[in-house]
Amino acid sequence: MSMTTETNVINMAEIFGSNVFNDSVMRTVLPKAIYKSLRKTIEEGIPLDPQVAEVVASAMKDWAISKGATHFTHWFQPLTGVTAEKHDSFISPTLDGRVIMEFSGKELIKGEPDASSFPSGGLRATFEARGYTAWDCTSPAFVKDGSLYIPTAFASYTGEALDKKTPLLRSMDALNRQALRVLRALGNTTTNKVTTTVGPEQEYFLIDKKLFDQRLDLMLTGRTLFGAKPPKGQDLEDHYFGQIKDRIAAYMSDLDSELWKLGVSAKTKHNEVAPAQHELAPIFTTTNIATDHNQLTMETMKKVALRHGLVCLLHEKPFAGVNGSGKHNNWSMGTDDGQNLLEPGKTPHENTQFLLFLTAIIKAVDIYADLLRASAASPGNDHRLGANEAPPAIISIFLGDQLTDILEQIEKTGGATSSKARGKIELGTASLPFLFKDTTDRNRTSPFAFTGNKFEFRMVGSSQSVAQCNFTLNTAVAEILSQIADRLEKTEDILAETYSIILEIIQNHKRIIFNGNGYCDEWVEEAAQRGLANTRTTVDAIAAINAEKNKTLMSKHGVLSRVEMESRTEIQYEIYVKTINIEGLTAVEIAKRQLLPACINFKADLASSITSIEGVGGDTDVEKELFGKVNVAMKSLYANIAKLEKAIETAANLHGDSKAQAEAYRDLVFAAMNELRADADVLETLVDADYWPLPTYSDLLFKV
Ligand code: ADP
Ligand code: MG
Repeated sequence: MSMTTETNVINMAEIFGSNVFNDSVMRTVLPKAIYKSLRKTIEEGIPLDPQVAEVVASAMKDWAISKGATHFTHWFQPLTGVTAEKHDSFISPTLDGRVIMEFSGKELIKGEPDASSFPSGGLRATFEARGYTAWDCTSPAFVKDGSLYIPTAFASYTGEALDKKTPLLRSMDALNRQALRVLRALGNTTTNKVTTTVGPEQEYFLIDKKLFDQRLDLMLTGRTLFGAKPPKGQDLEDHYFGQIKDRIAAYMSDLDSELWKLGVSAKTKHNEVAPAQHELAPIFTTTNIATDHNQLTMETMKKVALRHGLVCLLHEKPFAGVNGSGKHNNWSMGTDDGQNLLEPGKTPHENTQFLLFLTAIIKAVDIYADLLRASAASPGNDHRLGANEAPPAIISIFLGDQLTDILEQIEKTGGATSSKARGKIELGTASLPFLFKDTTDRNRTSPFAFTGNKFEFRMVGSSQSVAQCNFTLNTAVAEILSQIADRLEKTEDILAETYSIILEIIQNHKRIIFNGNGYCDEWVEEAAQRGLANTRTTVDAIAAINAEKNKTLMSKHGVLSRVEMESRTEIQYEIYVKTINIEGLTAVEIAKRQLLPACINFKADLASSITSIEGVGGDTDVEKELFGKVNVAMKSLYANIAKLEKAIETAANLHGDSKAQAEAYRDLVFAAMNELRADADVLETLVDADYWPLPTYSDLLFKV
C-alpha cells in the first residue's frame, strides 16, 4: 500500500519545491528585465506592468504544462475557512478547428468567480454576484493535481474583502510601516522592510477509514457526537513522542514528500498526547506564505490519508475525554537585513530595541485580548478553550523568569542592570555534553508564550486558518508601535523616552503577564481579580469583532473597514449556527435510526431469553436487572431525542437576529445534544457489543 523508507530513497533536495514556480524557476524562465520588474512588485509592492504580466503568464503556463498541468485555477480563501478553486483549461480554439494552449496576463492577474455562494455577511446580496480574485504574487504559484494554482485575494465588486488573505496582506503592510517608523526613530538606517514570520504547528488525528465510514457523526461533523469513555485513553502518557507505528510512519513520509514538492518545508513530526494524535511543524516563513502553506498542509494531510486507508481528522475535538487538537501559531518579526526583532541576545537587559518591541506586544495583547480571543473562536474550538484543556479562554502572556526579572528591575529603578544568567546544565557524566539553558523554560499552559525568540499563540484551533489570528496580532502590534513612533519622533532624548515608554507599559499592562500554571482554578480567580476576561464560548467571543475600539483599530490601519468588520461578525455567528444545527440534526438521526433500534433489538432478545429461561425454571435475576437498566436509559434517550428536536426547531425559528440565534443554539441545542449523548454513552456500556452500531472509542483510537 505504501512505500517504505528502506526501498525508496527520497532525494529531498531534488523534490523540494519541484512543483513550485519559485524564485529560482522565475530566474531561469523569465527574461532578466521581466524578472527584475516582478521582484520589485513582490518585494516593494510596485504595481505590476501589464506587459510584464503577459510575459510572466506565458512563462508560467509553459512551465506548468511541463509539470503536467492542463488547467489553471485562482486559488482563494473565502470566509468559510477552507480554500476555493475553479479550474479553467489552457485551451483556446484556433480558426482551423484545433486548439492551442493560452494563458494571458489578464487571466493571471484577475479572475471572476461567482461570489454569490460564498459567505459575505450581508455585504452583497445574491443578485450582486460579482466578485474578483486578484493575483497575490508574494505567494508562489504551484502545480497540483494537473492544475496551475495561482494564490489570489478575493473581493466583492465594490472592493470589500471577502476572504482571509486580503486583511492579512493589509496587516503585514501596516506592521511594516509602523515598525519601520520605530526602527528609524531608534537610529536604524539600514532596514527597509519588516515582515512578520509564522511557523504553525499542526495537530491532527488519524483513524481507520473503514471505521470512519461507519460513523455518520464523523462524516458530517468531523467529531464523535457519541462514544463512551474507553478503558484506556491517554492515561499512561505513552503516546506523546512515542514510537511511530509503521503504518503511520509510511503516511508521514508520504505526506512529507507531497508537501516538499509544493515547497512546504515540513520539518518536525511526532506523536501527540492523545492516542492516534500526531503533529507536524514546518520551518517558519513569511506570514502570508505560512498561511497558504498551512491550508495546503491541511488539504494534503486529508488527501494522503485516504491513500493509506486512513482518515485525517482536523476537528478541534474529535473525541471527548482525550486531548483535542490545536495549532500553535509561532510568530515573530524579522527585518530584510536579517534581524529577528524578538531575539533577546545574550544580555537582554541592554537590548533596548528588543525591550521596546517586547513591551509593545505586551500592551497590544492586553488591549486587544478580546479580538485575539475572537480570532480563535469557532464551534469546534469551544471544546478546547475554557474546557479545562489546552490554554484556558483567558488571554495572558508567559515571559519566563529572565525577562520578567528585567521588566521588574525597570519598574523599580527605571532601568535594568543585569540579566539572570542563562546557566548550564551538567548531566553528571563526562561522556555527555553540558547544555546551555534557554532564556525561558517552557510553559505549556500559557495561551501566549514567549519561547526564546518568538511568541507562540496556542489558542488557535487545528482546523482554523491562521490568517485571522495573524492579521489581528499584526494590526494590534502595528497600532501600539504607531503610538510609540508618535512619541519617539517628537523627542530629543530617544533613550530616556524609550525607557519611559517601557516603564509606562509595564505599569499599565503587567496584569497580562502570568508565568504560572494556566490550567489551575486559582488562575481563573486571580485573572478575574486582575480584570482579565474569561470568554468561554464562541458566541460571547465574537462580539469583540463588532466592538467600537476594535473597528477603530482595524479601519485606522486599513486592514478591515467598519462594514467589513460588521459583516465578519455576522458570518461568525452564521457559521456557529450552521455548525451546531448540523451537529444537532446528525445527533437526532443517529440516535433515532441507529441507537434506539439497536436498544430495541437488544431488549427484545433479552426479553425472549428471559421467557425461555423461565420456561425451564431458570434464574433470570441478572437478565432482568440488565433489562431494567437498559429500559431506564432508553426512556431517557427517547425523551432527549424529542427535546433536542424541539430545541433545534426553536433555535431555527429565531432567524433574523443572528446573535440571539447563536445563543439559542448554544444554550438549547448544544445543551440538549450533551444530554442525549449522556444517555447514549450509558447504553453503549450496557448493550451487547454485537448490537451496537457505532465503532467505539477503543476501536477508533487504537485500531490504527
Ligand atoms: P515546539 O513544539 O517546541 O514549540 P516546534 O519545533 O515543534 O517547537 O515548533 C516551533 C515552530 O516555531 C516551528 O515551526 C519553527 O519554524 C517556528 N519558529 C522558529 N523561529 C521562528 C520565528 N522567528 N518566527 C516564527 N516562527 C518561528
Ligand atoms: Mg510548540
